Amino acid sequence: MRLLAPFVLCLAAATAACTTPGGLEREPMVAPILTSAEARDEFTFARAEVARVTHLALDLELDFARKSVGGTARLDIEAAPGAEEIVLDSNGLQVARITAPDGTPLPFSMGTPVAGKGEPITVDISPSTGSAQGLRSITVHYTAAPEADALQWLAPEQTAGGTHPFMFSQGQAINNRSWIPTQDSPGIRQTWEARITAPKPLEVVMSGLRLSAPRDLGDGRRVFEFAMDRSVPPYLIAVAAGNLAFRDIGQSTGVWSEPETLDRAAAELTDTPAMIDAAEDLYGAYRWGRYDLLVLPPAFPYGGMENPTLTFLTPTFIAGDRSLTGLVAHELAHSWSGNLVTYASWRDGWLNEGVTSYLESRISEVVFGETRAAQERALSFAAVEEAVAQMGAEAAGSALRTPAELDPMEYDSTITYDKGALFLHTVERIVGRERFDPWLRSWFDAHAFQPATSQMFLADLRQNLVRGDAALEERLRLDEWVYGTGIPANAARPDPAAFVAVDAASSAYAANRSLDAQAWGRWSAAERMRFLQTLPDALTAAELAQLDQTLGLSGTGNAEVQFLWLEAALRNRYEPAVPQAEAFLMSVGRNKFVQPLFQALVDQGDWGTPIARRIYAEARPRYHSFTRGRVDALLGVEG
Ligand SMILES: [Zn+2]
Repeated sequence: MRLLAPFVLCLAAATAACTTPGGLEREPMVAPILTSAEARDEFTFARAEVARVTHLALDLELDFARKSVGGTARLDIEAAPGAEEIVLDSNGLQVARITAPDGTPLPFSMGTPVAGKGEPITVDISPSTGSAQGLRSITVHYTAAPEADALQWLAPEQTAGGTHPFMFSQGQAINNRSWIPTQDSPGIRQTWEARITAPKPLEVVMSGLRLSAPRDLGDGRRVFEFAMDRSVPPYLIAVAAGNLAFRDIGQSTGVWSEPETLDRAAAELTDTPAMIDAAEDLYGAYRWGRYDLLVLPPAFPYGGMENPTLTFLTPTFIAGDRSLTGLVAHELAHSWSGNLVTYASWRDGWLNEGVTSYLESRISEVVFGETRAAQERALSFAAVEEAVAQMGAEAAGSALRTPAELDPMEYDSTITYDKGALFLHTVERIVGRERFDPWLRSWFDAHAFQPATSQMFLADLRQNLVRGDAALEERLRLDEWVYGTGIPANAARPDPAAFVAVDAASSAYAANRSLDAQAWGRWSAAERMRFLQTLPDALTAAELAQLDQTLGLSGTGNAEVQFLWLEAALRNRYEPAVPQAEAFLMSVGRNKFVQPLFQALVDQGDWGTPIARRIYAEARPRYHSFTRGRVDALLGVEG
């Protein structure tokens, strides 16, 4: 049971600095709003300069029968003098009424829905409504629409245990407005607290600290209470409920999962305390109290989601040999890049993901050694080269800062994650770790719990690292990295030795189809992935059968290896792999795997499209709205 609140909660003192038990002065509660053009978020209806939410208090009941949540959200507000209204984001929320602190109903209107954005809720907070002058809090009484985008409700048969239902939320990017009426913009940071009622015996967990033991209402329901007293972008508010068990894996870290998965999950996560140590050594104290991980059922659409205090993880990271735990290093790293310092605009995706992928690599190097880190960097570099080659070096989409003409929600993850990390590896290589590491740490310190932009990142780097050194400025090509396209010429290329043995084996296979099963047995997961990624495009059924038989591909417990095998098989119309692909697509909802496998089928026209349609008809209800949206578009299915 997790009962501890390692830092003092001072939710009432909305704007005052609070003091931790250690006596350290806490940062002010209300994070600033950035007003620069670059910080503008075109995906919110909020007008934060008029009135903004500073704190959110949820009191909600999970309704598994209706697949919906409902209750109240009290919003604490900071308004400019004379402000008459506050605008909130909604996506399908059914609002019954909105009240002032004394219970007086407040006039409000729901705007017309805008595709991909939802609709505004405009609430009259002018003193003329009869409420007290200086209204500072409103309460929204509401229900989320069934099938709200952020929430996924799993039937018992979609869980490992098979007996109890499960639900979880995924807030990023702008899904949380489908279950929380707030200003859903990454630049409008808010503290929050929540009271969640759920049927027994389900356990509720959230991306904040649990305040007390669950309270039994005596009618088959229990109440759970949570709080997050660090201000966060609202997309980081997350909830999950299911038949969950907990196990400690370190002093302030542990794993939640279904009991059936707990042994395997805990064993796979034993390196987590070492990762936290490595990250703290590099980038300063972990500031969120506990670091727990929640291993979800396979329907989870992402690899992981960096929800504060509680990373949400796909079970597909469990390979049995800890070879895919780079994912954990990644989600942990977001505790600095993304959660502590957060992009204000979706156009700066690389500020969260590129910086985090760089941190992931540094943590991996400490925990798993230089060889693995070098191999992972080489895979990442190859991915950037391939992505840029595919889209063209002049393509606008290959810039780190998404240009205005492109939809920032349709970003290319290889650019955002891998090219972003490559930028930082490049700066690191040019200035040296002894200078770069302290600077990056100071960036996190200076902007902790605040929004940031590309412009701010470059300005800070110039002011505190380049310091007017014109020769260094020229070598770094900072603006070209962030605003330019393609791969700048100064990119830190990976160690050519990283895959020497594997690339020789690939060449041998390409030349005469020779396979070395013993070498394969010795290879790391990264080496196996490299080998499969460099297979010839065209393979015959006999060759695929030989690959499978010799390397044991269809029997692998490593989801990344299995995915690459299935992708190669489907691209070559290899019938014997179809049942395995179907089983994989029916159980795994991780979009990184699902979308490319359907793509591989669709690319095979007459052969693959009917197979894709048949599998998707069955699998679609099992996917999260994010994955569904991607595959719907691919197969031309109406959402
Ligand atoms: Zn990430």
